[in-house]
Amino acid sequence: MAYNVRHMSDNVFRNLPSVDRVLSHALVAELSVSREVKVSLCREAITFARDVAREGTELSLEDIVTRVREKADMLMHVGLVRVINATGVILHTNLGRSPLSKDALSAVQQSSVGYTDLEMNLEDGKRGSRYSHVENLLKQITGAEAAIVVNNNASALLLALASVAQNKEVIVSRGESVEIGGRFRIPDVMRASGALLKEIGTTNRTYVSDYEEAISDNTAAFLKVHASNFTQAGFTSSVKVEELLPLANSRGVFLMNDIGSGCLVDTAKYGLVSEPTVQESVGAGVSLTLFSGDKLLGGPQAGIAVGTKKTIDQLKSNPISRAVRIDKMDLAALVATLRHYLEDEFEEKIPVWQMVSASTDELRLRAEKWLESVPKAEIVAGESTIGGGSLPGQTLPTYTLAIAESNAQGGLDHIASRMRQASPPVIGRIDDGRFLLDPRSVLPEEDNDVVQALARV
Ligand SMILES: *Cc1c(COP(=O)(O)O)cnc(C)c1O
Repeated sequence: MAYNVRHMSDNVFRNLPSVDRVLSHALVAELSVSREVKVSLCREAITFARDVAREGTELSLEDIVTRVREKADMLMHVGLVRVINATGVILHTNLGRSPLSKDALSAVQQSSVGYTDLEMNLEDGKRGSRYSHVENLLKQITGAEAAIVVNNNASALLLALASVAQNKEVIVSRGESVEIGGRFRIPDVMRASGALLKEIGTTNRTYVSDYEEAISDNTAAFLKVHASNFTQAGFTSSVKVEELLPLANSRGVFLMNDIGSGCLVDTAKYGLVSEPTVQESVGAGVSLTLFSGDKLLGGPQAGIAVGTKKTIDQLKSNPISRAVRIDKMDLAALVATLRHYLEDEFEEKIPVWQMVSASTDELRLRAEKWLESVPKAEIVAGESTIGGGSLPGQTLPTYTLAIAESNAQGGLDHIASRMRQASPPVIGRIDDGRFLLDPRSVLPEEDNDVVQALARV
């Protein structure tokens, strides 16, 4: 018996093809991966065939070749896939927050296909500063004395705390000791920076007197954090920056203001509540204001700190600034995005503001165009949101293309999944028994892709 088993498996093993045989198979030879990668994939597939042979399954040469091709295909298809955001959430963090303007995109291309004057002064040929390009623009637009730009707002906060409050106390209201998302929690950032968190007040109410009583000889700063992804209602009270400044100034305490979204525009114009703007914070006299580049600013991922020259110099000279520095592509995109504000053309050029300012008439027309490809859908009035940690609870009126549960063959989840399998994938949302596609967060030039995906599904 034992002899038989041995004999059988010997046979099976003998039938396994050699690496050379798999490698020279036409369907492997034509693969575009390098020879080294092919050899390694063939070895792996043969090992797999040996393993399953031990369990009694014999794979043919074709099975092995198929496995090699599948593995090669998986390797070739890693990378970011362009998707269409029809969720109606304009700054969708999982979909990459803000799309770039055309000018920002071409600035990225220009800065990275060849070389740039990133850190060279073209007048004297000497070493220049990576920040000088963007600093003047930020000074002009925000009114601040100085600015530095880093990788993202989380690193701007880390850098700021480490630069002005290492081993010193930073006073934060309990109502603002928050989690922003993606594991970004104020107490954790504080600990990582070497600053000592001193929480004051209660979750719902904090007064100027709470800040005043908490000041000690070891207090370096007050930190205000904008509650960017939630709202508090009812019996609440928080201290405004303007109310806190006199105390900070008279006691020689820094005031840091993390405003999150980096809004440079009065959002009241669009029927939303006013998101705190960078200019307001700078104008009030805050020594350090921090914000993101890829939220309502509408640019690339970046963290921006603007403030007094003295404070910004402290941040620039901290070695952490090197560890969190911005790369040339983001810098190029940020400069191009800021120029849209300088030239007062943000509403026409920056996708996020095109989306916010789109009229319900326009949106309805686009949704009706989409409808032509799906007879069983309807146009339904709905609401878009800003998302991405800005204007929580605020909505903009919109018209969506809606597919009701009763018309969704295989159910709403099935329709949603089919739309995600389209090329490019279209992401919608399910709400109130319907699958919804909102044109507000879709770029107008992507309308055809939506129509095609709908026609297929
Ligand atoms: C979004 C946000 C951050 C984090 O910004 P990133 O650029 O994502 O690192 C920090 N603070 C506030 C208040 C935010 O809203």
